[in-house]
Amino acid sequence: MKNALYVVATPIGNLADISLRALDVLRGVDLVACEDTRHARHLLDHHGIRVQTLAVHQHNENEAANKLIAILAEGKSIALISDAGTPAISDPGARTVAAVRAAGFPVIPLPGASAAIAALSAAGMTEDRFLFVGFLPSKSSARRAAIKELAAISAVLVIYEAPHRVLETVADLAEVLEPQREIVIAREVTKLFEQIERLLLPDASAWLTADPNRQRGEFVLLVSGAVTSEKSEIDLQTERMLTILLAELPLKQAAKLTAEITGQPKNALYQRALALKDQAL
Ligand code: SAM
Repeated sequence: MKNALYVVATPIGNLADISLRALDVLRGVDLVACEDTRHARHLLDHHGIRVQTLAVHQHNENEAANKLIAILAEGKSIALISDAGTPAISDPGARTVAAVRAAGFPVIPLPGASAAIAALSAAGMTEDRFLFVGFLPSKSSARRAAIKELAAISAVLVIYEAPHRVLETVADLAEVLEPQREIVIAREVTKLFEQIERLLLPDASAWLTADPNRQRGEFVLLVSGAVTSEKSEIDLQTERMLTILLAELPLKQAAKLTAEITGQPKNALYQRALALKDQAL
C-alpha cells in the first residue's frame, strides 16, 4: 500500500457490491477510518478482514483529520469509508480529504456504490444531465423554498430522503413543481425489498400511502427536469396541429405536413403521431 489516504466506496445494502480492489485495499491498509466502527466491523467481518479502525464522523471530523495526518506522517496507509456508499456524498469525508490534501499526502479514490448513481442507472430518465441535490431541508417552509429554487432547472433532480419525511417531501415537490413532471421513487436499492417506481408527480403521494411498507427504508427521489415554457408552448401547439391533421390525413402525411409547417423534426413527429394513434384506439 502507498503512503496515502484511500477513499473507498462501500455497499449501499447488498454486501457483495464492493470491488475486488476495495477489498484488497481494506485488507492491506494500516488503518480504516470509518463513520461508525460497529457498522464498519459488520462489513469487514463479512469479508474476513481484520484491521484497526478509527471513528471519523461529522462531529469529530476536523480533530480526527489531524490524527490521520499524523498517522500518514509515520509513512502509513489509511482507507476512509462511510457507513454506506461513497464517502463525501451526503456523508462525512470532504473535510478529511481537504485536510489530507493540504498536508501534502496523496488521496486515491476507489469508486463503487452510490445510491444516487444506482437509482439513476435504473430509472430510465432520458435527460442528459442530472443535479445532485442530496437532502432537502427538514422543515417544510425551507424545503418548499429550496424546491422553488430548483424548479427551473432542466436536469433530473436527485434527492435523498429519510423514511419519516418521504411523504412530506413528495407532497411538497408535487405542490411546487408542474404536474406533468415525473418522479422515480427508488426505495431500498440493492436490498431485499427494492422498489423502483416511476409516476407522475401528482400521483406519488397516493402511491406511497397505498401500502405502509412503501414508506419504509431508504429513498432516492429522482424528479424529471423542468420543461421550459417556450418549449412546452411549441410542443402543445405542434401536438394540437398534429392531432387535427391526424383526424383528416394518413399518419405519415400528417407528420410530414406538421414538420413542414412547424420546422420540428419529422421523425419525432412521426413517433408522436404513432403514440397519439395508439392512445385513440
Ligand atoms: N454516501 C451515500 C451514497 O454514496 O449514496 C449516501 C449516504 S446518506 C447519509 C444516506 C442516504 O442515501 C439515505 O437516506 C438515502 O436517501 C440514500 N440511500 C443510501 N442507501 C440507499 C439505498 N440502498 N436505497 C435508496 N437510497 C439509499
